Amino acid sequence: MSPVVSTLARLRALHDLDFELMTYPERKVHLDPKRQALLLEIPPPYRSLYERIRAAKGTALATVKGNTCVGCNMHLPPQLINEIRKTQTIHQCPTCKRILSPDLES
Ligand SMILES: [Zn+2]
Repeated sequence: MSPVVSTLARLRALHDLDFELMTYPERKVHLDPKRQALLLEIPPPYRSLYERIRAAKGTALATVKGNTCVGCNMHLPPQLINEIRKTQTIHQCPTCKRILSPDLES
């Protein structure tokens, strides 16, 4: 697995965990240690990027569905879609700045 793919997978796991924390605050005691462990596995630049976007937007990760960013529903340029599918670097949505995660089902 390339470093970008594993970083994206961890960011997605973190995103899911944060969603769970938001939905079920009573699970915090149980989820916080998991969150800390997960954070340590994410390279520091992406860790701080994630936290920064999450603080500003509520969620830091957006899936790309078709040619649309699910975070803000804006269409993404075809060239960017191709780049995202290659998963060689991590991209941010030009509009909402969320970290773009390729839709792995498509
Ligand atoms: Zn967006």
